[in-house]
Amino acid sequence: MNKIIKIPVGLGERSYDIIAGQGILGNAAEYLSPFVKGRKCLLLTDSNVGPIYAKKVHQMLTAAGSEAFIFSFPAGEEHKTLKTVGSICSYAVKHGLDRSSLIVALGGGVCGDIAGFAAAIYMRGINFIQIPTTLLAAVDSSVGGKTGADLPEGKNLIGAFWQPKLVLMDPEVLTTLPFKEIRCGLAEVVKYGVIMDAPLFAKLEQNIDKLNAVDLQFYAEIIARCCELKAKVVAADEREGGLRAILNYGHTFGHAVELVSNFTLAHGEGVAIGMNMAAELAVQAGLLDLAVAVRQRKLLEKIVLPCTLPPGADPEKIYAGMLKDKKKVGGNLNLIVPLEIGKVEIKSGFEPAAIINAIRCCCE
Ligand code: ADP
Ligand code: ZN
Repeated sequence: MNKIIKIPVGLGERSYDIIAGQGILGNAAEYLSPFVKGRKCLLLTDSNVGPIYAKKVHQMLTAAGSEAFIFSFPAGEEHKTLKTVGSICSYAVKHGLDRSSLIVALGGGVCGDIAGFAAAIYMRGINFIQIPTTLLAAVDSSVGGKTGADLPEGKNLIGAFWQPKLVLMDPEVLTTLPFKEIRCGLAEVVKYGVIMDAPLFAKLEQNIDKLNAVDLQFYAEIIARCCELKAKVVAADEREGGLRAILNYGHTFGHAVELVSNFTLAHGEGVAIGMNMAAELAVQAGLLDLAVAVRQRKLLEKIVLPCTLPPGADPEKIYAGMLKDKKKVGGNLNLIVPLEIGKVEIKSGFEPAAIINAIRCCCE
């Protein structure tokens, strides 16, 4: 029997459990039943994930005593829109979902974000359950309660904090996930190591083979550890007043890198490059040993993540992109910089020239 790991997320009356374990999707009824028995569920999934997993999860919901309806939307960030959210809500009305019903998200971050947002606003808020199917969603977007959709003007510009009642994670879903998507999730895993868990970072360094071979038991362990870490941060700072900002390590640089690449670079790739830039900035400011920055870079390279910008990238443009980032405080860029593996600091007041120079040092 594979190990089942339960991670409580302590948020007072909004507390919930994350349950992770290999094969859990085939045994989900017992976990789902307390929440869905006798209630209707809208099972939201996308056009890639639905054909592979929706039937199995539908069976589990039925076995748990729910009447469930599957709604599938076309895969892709371009469908993370208010229009999709509207269709979900209309479908829910059509099938008689009421205030006691639930939305169950089966998919990656896109699916989880819009499912949570639809749940937050349908009939002024109904319960929802997350079943993440990407590594990124498992270690990042499914913990913390951030939900939302994109506007034509930009990503995630609308949304709500809405916590799930339960998160179920089965690493077996990674067997069908393209390896590029796995690598992107690994960028966030490395991030957790750098910001708050040196032993996790060392464990990743020592298990490159398992990472690249997608050893499911190993992934189950690191997913659980990352969720535990994120849960700790979120419990301390649910609405991003302070500590939660450390989760943005590499992200202010990374978002700008993604933007300037016209999103030809994926989020995880942007974050990998962004973490290198943040480390470079810290080295130049005398806050970090060069050897530590090199250690971070080596790990990222071994899991085949990019560490530098493609030829032709313009550091000034990336800096301009960073200034547009919505996490800017009072006109000053707040950046998370590493001090050692396992420890970061939130710092503002860097000279633009220093930031641009750090970006330039990460150009090919
Ligand atoms: P994220 O924001 O978590 O990276 P997305 O929702 O954008 O995730 O998903 C990335 C892509 O992978 C989408 O095309 C999605 O349909 C697909 N996908 C998600 N989970 C799986 C899976 N387990 N197997 C195969 N494809 C998947
Ligand atoms: Zn991220």
